[in-house]
Amino acid sequence: MLRFYEPMSQHTTFKVGGPADIWIQPDSEHFLDYAKSLIKGNIPFFVLGGGSNIVVSDKGIRGTVLDTTQWGSCFVEGTDMIFRSGTRIAEAVELAAQHNLGGLAFLAGMPGTVGGAVWMNARCYGHAIAEFLETVTIIDENAALCTIPYNPQEYGYKKSPFQQRPVIIVEVRVHLYSQKEEDIRKEMLCHTHDRSIKGHYRFPCAGSVFKNNKDFSKPTGQIIEELGLCGLRIGGAQVADYHGNIIINTGTATATDIQSLVEYLMEQVYKRTGFRLEPEICFIGG
Ligand SMILES: Cc1cc2nc3c(=O)[nH]c(=O)nc-3n(C[C@H](O)[C@H](O)[C@H](O)COP(=O)(O)OP(=O)(O)OC[C@H]3O[C@@H](n4cnc5c(N)ncnc54)[C@H](O)[C@@H]3O)c2cc1C
Repeated sequence: MLRFYEPMSQHTTFKVGGPADIWIQPDSEHFLDYAKSLIKGNIPFFVLGGGSNIVVSDKGIRGTVLDTTQWGSCFVEGTDMIFRSGTRIAEAVELAAQHNLGGLAFLAGMPGTVGGAVWMNARCYGHAIAEFLETVTIIDENAALCTIPYNPQEYGYKKSPFQQRPVIIVEVRVHLYSQKEEDIRKEMLCHTHDRSIKGHYRFPCAGSVFKNNKDFSKPTGQIIEELGLCGLRIGGAQVADYHGNIIINTGTATATDIQSLVEYLMEQVYKRTGFRLEPEICFIGG
């Protein structure tokens, strides 16, 4: 599928964002050809997964958005699972459980795609996806398919080597372990329930706005809460009154509202505590 001036608000969990000049969502048969041709043709592009960790500018995105969400599937080889990058995290976690493969349950309830999770090195409940990586296959800067073995030194807190390179993640191989489906499902339920109680799904949002920093000796959400900034609103964007590190779209937010609120929080926290907050969400386009 290809569309011109596609509103990105329809493809992000924040439900904000102006038009992309060109939005392509290739089916599985054509995905690799399209992806390679963007790189070969030197065409400016942005790779979109589930849109769950981004704020797209109200002005939209110039160039092409390559939507990976139809590029999904999974293969099992022993205790390894191989996912195409557009596979939804929910599906990946579910399939692992069905195959009695433990490891990924910590991701239960997290929106987005496997490709986005690797790019972000998504983490929660004490685990990061990098812990389970065997290889990541990308289309590299020369439009060649290239399989990269996992190197722990290249990954860190919310950091992957792909953040520094204009490449497209196409396949991810994870190494899991045998576990009873029943036990995996118990863990999945526990995490989705916890997210639900914490209000993750109440309003459009992108999860945690800021990274946590060990040097602050408390979670960022707690710092914001202690400064009495919960409930603070700019336009239609609001710091959730139930979670200091979540900004919600109350229905009418623009990307500008969200960005202004992020900047205001950073300024207030710095002025009042000396801590410099670092956004975890990515601001795209403009
Ligand atoms: C309710 C909620 C809860 C959340 N909880 C957590 C949490 O606990 N922990 C956590 O880490 N995150 C959390 N998130 C954020 C987000 O879900 C994850 O970071 C997720 O892994 C992002 O995946 P995505 O496919 O949506 O990526 P997107 O938002 O689409 O993209 C994020 C970045 O990855 C790049 N990218 C995506 N796919 C590819 C690809 N195939 N090749 C190259 N680059 C790519 C994009 O270009 C972009 O720069 C949460 C979000 C929400 C809405």
